[in-house]
Amino acid sequence: MNSERSIKLHVGIDDTDSAEGMCTTYLTCIILRKLEELGIKPLDYPRLIRLNPFARYKTRGNGALSFVVNLNSREEVELVENIVLEYVEKYAMFDGVNTNPGVIFYEGEVTDEMRQYAKSAIYSIYTIDYAEEFAKQIGARYHKFKKGRGIIGAIAAISIELTDQTFECLAYRLPENYGTKRQLDDESIFYMNEQTYPETFDNIDIEGNYAAIEPHTPCPVLYGIRGNTPEIVEKAHNMVKSYEEIQDYCIFKTNQHTDMHIQYDVKINDMVNTGCYSFDCQVTKAPHDIEGGHVFFEVSDETGMLECAAFEPTKSFRDIVRKLCVGDKLTIYGGLNDNHTLNIEKFKINEIEPQYNYKNPICECGKRMKSAGKGKGFKCPKCSKRLRDADKIKEPILRDIYLGFYEVPTEARRHLAKPIIRITTGADKVLSKKS
Ligand code: ATP
Repeated sequence: MNSERSIKLHVGIDDTDSAEGMCTTYLTCIILRKLEELGIKPLDYPRLIRLNPFARYKTRGNGALSFVVNLNSREEVELVENIVLEYVEKYAMFDGVNTNPGVIFYEGEVTDEMRQYAKSAIYSIYTIDYAEEFAKQIGARYHKFKKGRGIIGAIAAISIELTDQTFECLAYRLPENYGTKRQLDDESIFYMNEQTYPETFDNIDIEGNYAAIEPHTPCPVLYGIRGNTPEIVEKAHNMVKSYEEIQDYCIFKTNQHTDMHIQYDVKINDMVNTGCYSFDCQVTKAPHDIEGGHVFFEVSDETGMLECAAFEPTKSFRDIVRKLCVGDKLTIYGGLNDNHTLNIEKFKINEIEPQYNYKNPICECGKRMKSAGKGKGFKCPKCSKRLRDADKIKEPILRDIYLGFYEVPTEARRHLAKPIIRITTGADKVLSKKS
């Protein structure tokens, strides 16, 4: 073995799970445990990177995984790569129609073109061929299982530069419990939330008043706790009581809840489907409900107009949206679906347009007057008094809405969407202040 050389190996894995089971985070966790047994530790927390939320073949949240190890010899590189491939082969859900695992090995430092690739994997949609060409171009070794679509996300997961980050502690179940009801003590989750919020977040769905940390799929995850630092998510994890045995847990560094998918300074006319944006606009058509409980309204900027939607799963968020009026000035965050409708994640009301009711004047006798006909003023129905030159009276309508941010509830939130609490507490600025 040549122990003088230090080889930095980036490992990227994606698309190993299906709706029926597995989770690439779990696969990464057990690979890391195996490497630890051999004395090989990752240089940093493994990374869980969320990519374009509109990617067509995603299972759930379009997450890809990566980690970095420093190795001393070619033999060690081979050993690590063999273990990773062996585990993917053994544990990936190959039966899933849309499960097409991909693995990437890359040695050395991440380059600007790799960072650019990763950014675009969040903003737009790639083909497998493009990712394969890119892997060759950067000199990465790649492994495609079945169609190998996973290489798209695997390259992005090793390449992305985090300018803001959060952490997620994922606890895993014993395999014999997969698919059964998760046995968690809800009270302990509410207590954990009380003690650690807002440093952890999305633990509770406030609206439904239930614990939101457990998934509802047959996957290996018992629960996931999200927060601003590795310390707080581990502390919170230690506060949760589980009635079933936890097989293992792992803390991931992630771009979840950073708004990394959002593109700024794009005008309405330049927005494309599957892109996610933050932009200033004005309401130009009032909200209305359509079948299925979805609420639609129209906004404009100086370049064009756009249809926006708060879909049914956003629940009480729709009540806020229903209160918007023509003329209100907003900053909207959201993504454009294939129908060119913007799916709102959150918005900020910057200016509330005063709204008025126009009413007929009140007569001296106290009765509200009636119109006497077009251009003929008003006439009192009680005492018959006439007012020939009077106009309607402008009465302000009380707007039951306030300036500031509004967001969809926890359960309807995209993994990448930054919760307002991270903005108001400044948690999203910590990393940029450090660098
Ligand atoms: P989970 O959330 O459970 O990890 P998932 O939603 O991450 O599941 P995957 O199984 O990872 O779903 O499938 C997503 C697929 O989409 C992967 O093959 C990934 O490589 C691919 N993909 C990721 N980003 C893009 C993109 N920008 N363009 C095209 N394909 C993409």
